[in-house]
Amino acid sequence: MRVKILGSAAGGGFPQWNCGCANCSAVRAGNFQGKARSQAQIAISNDGHSWFLLGASPDLRSQIEATPELPPQTGIRRSPIAGAVLANADLDHVLGLLLLRELQPLRVYATDSIRRILTEDNSMFAMLQRVPGQVTWSAFEPGTTFPLLDPAGKDSGIRCRALSLGTHYPAYVSPARHDQLNPGEASLGLIVESPTGKHLAYMPAVPQIDDALPDGALLKEFAAADVLLFDGTFWSDDELIRIQGSGKTARQMGHVPVSSADGSLARLAGLRRPRKIYIHINNTNPMLNEAGPEYRQVREAGWEIAEDGCQLDL
Ligand SMILES: [Zn+2]
Repeated sequence: MRVKILGSAAGGGFPQWNCGCANCSAVRAGNFQGKARSQAQIAISNDGHSWFLLGASPDLRSQIEATPELPPQTGIRRSPIAGAVLANADLDHVLGLLLLRELQPLRVYATDSIRRILTEDNSMFAMLQRVPGQVTWSAFEPGTTFPLLDPAGKDSGIRCRALSLGTHYPAYVSPARHDQLNPGEASLGLIVESPTGKHLAYMPAVPQIDDALPDGALLKEFAAADVLLFDGTFWSDDELIRIQGSGKTARQMGHVPVSSADGSLARLAGLRRPRKIYIHINNTNPMLNEAGPEYRQVREAGWEIAEDGCQLDL
C-alpha cells in the first residue's frame, strides 16, 4: 500500500493568509529554515491506479497537480481518485469535496452524522448529487471494519476502521442539528489496513491520549501500527492565546499539544514499533523551524515531521 502525504499543515496552511506570526512572516520573507505546507491531506492506494483520499482538503486541486499519480492517466475525464474517507466535518477536512464536483463518480465514506451535516444542512453539497451515480455516500460506524470500494464496487483490498476520539462538532453546526447527532461520530481517527496486514494510523485530531478510548486502548492501537501519523497541531497548550492575545487552548480545540509532561512527545515516548510522524501542524508551531530547539527535540526523540509530498510504502 502506498501512502502519499499531499498536505501536512493544520487548517489555514503555512503560511496562513491572515497570520503575521514569527513563522509565517519568516516564510514570506524567504528567510525561514523550514518549508511551507498545504492543509493536511493523505492519499492511499493498493494498486497504484485507484486512489482513496483521507479527508478532502481545501488545497486539493493544487495537491493533485503536484502529485504525478493523481491527474488522469488515461481518458479525457477519468481521475484515478476513487473516493474519500471522512474523519470529521471540519472545513479543512471536507471543503475539498466541493472541488471534486465535476461529475466524476466517487464513493465517500462518512458517519451518518457527518453526512447529514454536509448534505442536509449545506445546500452547496447538492453539487455532488446532480446526476445519478455521481457521489455514493457509504455510511460506517466507529469500531467496525469496512472495505474501501471504488464507485463501481470493486474492492481495493484496503480495510478501514474508525476510532471515536472526540465529541465536538464544528462551530458551523447549528444547535438544533447538534442535538440530533451522535457525539461519538464527531471526530475520528482512522486505522487503515493494507492487504498484507500493515497498519497506518491517521490521527490528525487527538484531544487526549489516555482517556480517548477506555482502558488505554488508543495506546494499544498505536503500538500495533506500522506508521503513526499523529496530531502535531500545537507545540504548547496556550500557543494561540500567547500569539493572539486571546482564544482557546490546544486541548479546548481538540488537540493534545506536542510538548509538556502530558503532551504527545512524552506520552508516546515508549512506542517502539510505529514510525512516528507528526502531521496537521499549525503555522504557529515552533517545531516547523528547522533551526530551532523544538525541531531538534522532536527529531532527537525519534519523530519525523511530515512535509508535503512525502511518500510511505507499507
Ligand atoms: Zn502564522
